[in-house]
Amino acid sequence: MTAVLFAVVLLLAAIAIVGGTFFTIRWFIAAGRPPVEVKPKRAKSNPHDAATTAHLKQFFGGKECAACGRPIAPVHAGELHPGLLNTNTHEAIAWEDIPAADLSTTLASHATICASCVTVETFRREYPDRVVDRHRNVQHPSH
Ligand SMILES: [Zn+2]
Repeated sequence: MTAVLFAVVLLLAAIAIVGGTFFTIRWFIAAGRPPVEVKPKRAKSNPHDAATTAHLKQFFGGKECAACGRPIAPVHAGELHPGLLNTNTHEAIAWEDIPAADLSTTLASHATICASCVTVETFRREYPDRVVDRHRNVQHPSH
């Protein structure tokens, strides 16, 4: 009888210790974090229909980047996409922003640039005071 009572007391003590530890750790974790405001992410949807996407993939296939001279990598979902460059204004058009309407005229009037150069040109346009131009091309890659 005493052994059973001892076992029950031991079991209850173990449950109290484990439960207390669990709730204490949980409280510390919850108390240590500042409240986070969850912002809904902008859905990144493909603005082009399947035919336009196929046309763009076919158009960029085998082309070279007008900015760095490297061959433009094949377009795959989930990777950075190439874009277009207005050679007069130096304005880059990201893949998502290539207008589906009048596509042939847009493709004919702009130069193709690789995904890295789309990023570079967009950054250059948005933050011109933070850009330092250095010589960079296929023969002299920066990295
Ligand atoms: Zn490039």
